[in-house]
Amino acid sequence: MEKKKIVILGAGYGGLRTLKKLQKLKPNADLIIIDKNNYHCETTSLHEVAAGTADADEICYSIDQVIDRKRTLFIQDTVVRVERESKRVILQDSEPVSYDYLLIGLGFEPEFFGIQGMDEYGLAISDIPSVKKIRHHIEDQFKKWGDDRRKERLIIVVGGAGFTSFEFLGELTNRVPHLIARHRVDRGLVRVICIEPTPNALPMFNRHLAEYGANKLIDRGVEFVIGRVSELDGERIFYKDGNETHTLQAGTFIWTGGVSGSSVVGRSGFEQHRGRVVVNTDLTVAGNSEILIIGDCSAVIDPETGRPYPTTAQIAMQQADCAAHNLYALIEGSPTKPFVFKFMGTVCSLGRDDAVGEIMGRNLKGRPASIMKKVIENRSLVKIGGVETMIKKGRFS
Ligand SMILES: Cc1cc2nc3c(=O)[nH]c(=O)nc-3n(C[C@H](O)[C@H](O)[C@H](O)COP(=O)(O)OP(=O)(O)OC[C@H]3O[C@@H](n4cnc5c(N)ncnc54)[C@H](O)[C@@H]3O)c2cc1C
Repeated sequence: MEKKKIVILGAGYGGLRTLKKLQKLKPNADLIIIDKNNYHCETTSLHEVAAGTADADEICYSIDQVIDRKRTLFIQDTVVRVERESKRVILQDSEPVSYDYLLIGLGFEPEFFGIQGMDEYGLAISDIPSVKKIRHHIEDQFKKWGDDRRKERLIIVVGGAGFTSFEFLGELTNRVPHLIARHRVDRGLVRVICIEPTPNALPMFNRHLAEYGANKLIDRGVEFVIGRVSELDGERIFYKDGNETHTLQAGTFIWTGGVSGSSVVGRSGFEQHRGRVVVNTDLTVAGNSEILIIGDCSAVIDPETGRPYPTTAQIAMQQADCAAHNLYALIEGSPTKPFVFKFMGTVCSLGRDDAVGEIMGRNLKGRPASIMKKVIENRSLVKIGGVETMIKKGRFS
């Protein structure tokens, strides 16, 4: 039988886990994985690098560590689009890559909902360069305050009060005391403000857990403001509460209010909404049974609510296991299986030694939740990078 070619786009939670599984299943196919970086990033920890409580290399490891060179070719390049008719992937710098079967796992991009000034002045937590930029920007504002004493430099505003926002705010409240000490700033001058259109922070949790999280952040000095961000002009943030427009002067604005799937999806002509394609039950695309989409570029409908499941690393990794099985089945000419999501619970970190979460219907708070968060992170690390990567990273706690 002629050897086929399986091409995987993206070496994130979904893509790299699919590759790892396929390397074990050994289909009669050449495997190619393409990513713009030569490292896998543990995206679920990006907020720590943004706040400055972790360094980038603590949450990244080389893609090489997962690749079986006998079976897999890694191409480091940026995917521009997929040409479905000619079955080719167009890359920024290299020649196009042809495929027989394609898996798209290109993750997310920040979604600014057309808010004016956001592209120019807003910062977002999306990848390693973006979080390094946030860290340096905040440090720079503290440094510059030493020169000009402009107090808005010490005001940090976060748009959105969901999961990423709370995780970032938790880390930031751990980091701020260090910045205050290093730059000899009066503690009362530093303000951390979170703006959210509704009073419902952390909507994925029950009210008891959400209130625990919000109260913890309030105790550490975070101010919550109700409002919908409408414009940034580089010095001011405009937000609306009802019909009234208010402004805040701040040196830093970080947007956590929404993400969409990779723009490659739209550029490739798939039927999509905010970069996400509603996939068939076996993760293939309607009209293209040779293409599977997983992770943040896919939308899997929850039969109970009729709405797509939230995009998470958890679902991306479960989809990867199903996708690897189905790619193998497609090569073998055997039937594919449907993807069934099994919700394992979720834990939101609130900085050092604190978190809130729900695991198997049980509420967790404080240190036990924080320990559970580390267990989940290490489990993902082992499932993709393997035990050796975990040992190399010294992650045992
Ligand atoms: C701060 C934060 C905390 C989070 N916490 C949690 C959590 O606790 N639990 C949870 O389950 N989820 C969490 N999430 C969500 C989770 O990180 C995402 O849902 C998950 O990363 C999606 O996985 P993926 O495989 O779709 O894409 P990703 O893991 O994002 O990987 C995408 C890959 O594609 C590559 N890529 C992108 N564009 C291109 C291109 N054009 N060309 C080439 N390569 C490209 C990237 O380099 C990357 O390697 C969090 C997200 C954030 C931002």
